[in-house]
Amino acid sequence: MKTITVNVEHKTESSYDILIGVNILEQLNSLLDLSQYSQAAIITDTNIAKFHLQKLQKAIKIPTRSIILSPGESAKTIQSTEIIWKELADAKFDRKSVVINLGGGVIGDMGGFAASTYMRGIDFINIPTTILAQVDESVGGKTGIDFAGIKNLIGTFEQPSAVVIDTEIVKTLPDREFISGFAEIIKHGLIVSRDYYDLVTSKHPREFSEGELIEIIAGSCEIKRKIVEEDTKEKGHRKVLNFGHTIGHAIEALLLKTETPILHGEAISIGMVAEAKISQYKKYISEADVIAIEESLVNAGLPTAIESIDINGIKEKIKSDKKNVDGKTKWTLLDEVGIAVYDEEVSDALVTQALEFISNE
Ligand code: ADP
Ligand code: ZN
Repeated sequence: MKTITVNVEHKTESSYDILIGVNILEQLNSLLDLSQYSQAAIITDTNIAKFHLQKLQKAIKIPTRSIILSPGESAKTIQSTEIIWKELADAKFDRKSVVINLGGGVIGDMGGFAASTYMRGIDFINIPTTILAQVDESVGGKTGIDFAGIKNLIGTFEQPSAVVIDTEIVKTLPDREFISGFAEIIKHGLIVSRDYYDLVTSKHPREFSEGELIEIIAGSCEIKRKIVEEDTKEKGHRKVLNFGHTIGHAIEALLLKTETPILHGEAISIGMVAEAKISQYKKYISEADVIAIEESLVNAGLPTAIESIDINGIKEKIKSDKKNVDGKTKWTLLDEVGIAVYDEEVSDALVTQALEFISNE
């Protein structure tokens, strides 16, 4: 088992451990000393419950109830949060109880939000069940729900008491979800470490052994921990994490309400190709680098282009990105494979060229 300790400084200083291993769910009670709590509530969704709830229930040796919600982003609402709060209140949860979030980003965000607001905040433990949640949301301390049509509009900054990553759990993920999570893993390599990039693109995501998967997930958590710890106020260096996300988010948002929505990692994969291309136009990386990046994403099973792209629609979305400063988009680009630069300005013409490049006409 691997342990990564995350030190956070937000309002008060605190730290928590990310535990990563195979079948460690079974040892949860002793690993986290759950006997310090009076009772526990597991928050999960119907898909995950089918595969993993029983095992978790068996592992916990204190009184436990389970709150099973419907899956998907559309369930990340104040109504679902109310269901959680109501269950906690009815079961007389007090400050000595704990919430255990067993799920992907949706459950992690919403369960964390419910716990961080119930009685002004009770402890919560995250057991991320998607690759994306394991490598992206284990570090950062953001909780939230969607509101008024806006993703994560309501939320808190609150750290979990612990994060437990059991690589056995992601085996039941559909291929598409599994591979989508690898987009963020590949991004971590591209922005800070050529070696890590080479490692994570050396095989198809599904072909890594259990041991290799632990290395990779720990590697990504460690990269994100370092970046976030160095930049707790989200002002500077943390922006390297936005690579692929300016165009990626725009594509994701544009396709959200269509008949062909794409997963977050898939959109980021396409965004990374476009933003690597912009990096090439600016003479930071070479054309051969862009081709190699594209190839590694294709080999991972990720998309690198889209059909009938609405270039103006994407540009509109980019302009309304909440990360813009004074209406200006600041870009994160690649200076080299393994080194990102941020706060870059890019002309409208280069953005158009890059969008044409990722268009599959
Ligand atoms: P993300 O972490 O990508 O935001 P979501 O919370 O939206 O993930 O979960 C993506 C989908 O995968 C949901 O339908 C969820 O129920 C399902 N899911 C999550 N984890 C697992 C798992 N380990 N096995 C099978 N399905 C899962
Ligand atoms: Zn992302």
